[in-house]
This record gives sequence, structure tokens and C-alpha cells, in this order.
Amino acid sequence: MIGGATQLVAIVGSPIAQVKSPVNFNTWFQDHSLDLAMIPIDVRADAMPAFIDCLRGWQNMSGCVITVPYKQVVTKYLDHLSPRAALLRSVNVIRREADGTLVGDNVDGEGFLTAARQQGFEPEGQKALVLGAGGAGSAIACSLCEAGLAELVLSDLDSQRAKALAEVLHNAFPAVRIGLGLGFASLAGFALVANASPVGMLETDELPLPAVMLETLTPGCLVADVVTSPAVTPFLQRAQALGAVIQTGPQMARAQMGNLGAFMGVTPLGI
Ligand code: NAD
Repeated sequence: MIGGATQLVAIVGSPIAQVKSPVNFNTWFQDHSLDLAMIPIDVRADAMPAFIDCLRGWQNMSGCVITVPYKQVVTKYLDHLSPRAALLRSVNVIRREADGTLVGDNVDGEGFLTAARQQGFEPEGQKALVLGAGGAGSAIACSLCEAGLAELVLSDLDSQRAKALAEVLHNAFPAVRIGLGLGFASLAGFALVANASPVGMLETDELPLPAVMLETLTPGCLVADVVTSPAVTPFLQRAQALGAVIQTGPQMARAQMGNLGAFMGVTPLGI
């Protein structure tokens, strides 16, 4: 029950009715007998600057998760960005400090990595393929590089988008070898293949890479998908049948809860 002394966090986007975070966080707060609550907030685009300004004075609000379509635009209004949020020009969580200062980070990639580590994947020295260089793909690629990946291949239908991301990552992480596109024959040697594109969300059996290429993966390779519905996409189904370890979008979202909660100061990291 929300009372007068309840400390709040929020999830901000538009539309907002589809988000799962309030149920997940509020269940966790209740299970841990904490006087905390997450509220969903649907803000119109033209009201975002005033809303963010209002957050500075909102004393019983610890922070906000930021979702579609505001992850990029919100970077303009905050007081500080984490190095990776600045690199990605994208924020998915804000912390309100006691003095009203607003700090942004992007933990999409950390959530992905937390889930991947739970599957036994360690990025250090490994080779990974990331399909999709948009918001989720950029964050995942950045966290993999930060964690010591040896070689990264980026592929996107929009090849300019992949190229631009490769340049940003190359400047930030010069030790990581970065390749572009699917112009290679086999997935042998890749320890991770991640779909970070929306392919698989629709009721089709479309794959984010050619089926013949998927058949070349090394059994035991981690194959991950960011798509949350369906949980097991056609891509993951095929990969699992070929002997891959799979990681679903809901596993990534669940793993990210601790990263989001810890940044806002309302949960430990590893919940
Ligand atoms: P986005 O629009 O920013 O980026 C998607 C990118 O995928 C685009 O650059 C597009 O060109 C590319 N793409 C489309 N089809 C492709 C294909 N066949 N091959 C290669 N690239 C292709 O979107 P986003 O914000 O990155 O979101 C992508 C997906 O990730 C969505 O389904 C979203 O719901 C999901 N997501 C999941 C989580 C989670 O926690 N599980 C978190 C964030 C986003």
C-alpha cells in the first residue's frame, strides 16, 4: 500500500501501459517489506523538459527508469551522464541525488551481461557477433567491449548505423578488434551470437541471420535474443536445436532489474 511516507521510483515513457517493471519492482519491494513503490508515468513529448525539471524538486522520488521513446532525448536535460551513457547518447535510468542533481546511466548492456554471466559466459578474450546496432545493440556492444571482449562483429540492415557504432566503440576501446557485416562463412569461433534487432517479435519465422550461417555455430556457443515476446524466438528455437546455450529477452530484462534498482539506490545489484 502506498502511504504518505512511501519513497517512489518511476518508469517514464509513452505509451506506458505495456511495461512490466512496476509489477516486477513492486513485488520485490513488497516481498522485502520496503516502503517503496514504482509508478508508471506517461509523459507527452512536449512536456518532457518540464517533467525532468520537476524531478529536481521531487523530494520523495529516488529515480526513474526511462523507456521508449525518451532514451535519447533525455540525455539533453540531465546534469551528469555516466561515461557509457555519454558514449551511447542514451539513458535508461536516472538517479535523483539528495540535492536534486539528476544523473543518467544506460544499463541495458549490463543487464544483458548479468544474464549472460548467469549462463556461464565470460566476455574477456572472446569473439562476439551482435545483430542490430540500435539502442539495445549499442548498449550490449559497449558493455561487451568494456568487459574485455577481444573481437566484435556488428551487423545491421542499416550498414551506416553499424559503421557509426563501430567508429565510436573503436575510439573508446581501441584494443577490441571490430568487424562489420555478415561477409564471413562460419560462426565457428564465436562464443556469443546476440540478436539485438526486433526480428522475431512478429509471428513469422524470420531469422536475423541466414539459416545456413546459424547451422555453423559451435555447440555450446551462447545465443541470445533481446526480444521479450515471444520469450523463445524462432532464432533461439533453432539455435537451441543446434546445441547452443540460449538466453531470452525476459532473462535479460529480469537480470537488468538489479542494475536499474541499484543505480536508483532502491535494490542491491544482484537481485
Ligand atoms: P532500435 O530501433 O533502436 O534498433 C533496432 C536495430 O535493428 C535498427 O538499427 C535496425 O536497422 C536493426 N535491424 C532490423 N532488422 C534487422 C536485421 N534483420 N538484421 C540486422 N539488423 C536489423 O531498437 P532497440 O531499442 O535497439 O530495440 C530492439 C529490440 O530490443 C526491441 O525488440 C526491444 O523491445 C528489445 N529490447 C529488449 C530489452 C530487454 O531487456 N530484453 C531491452 C531493450 C530493448
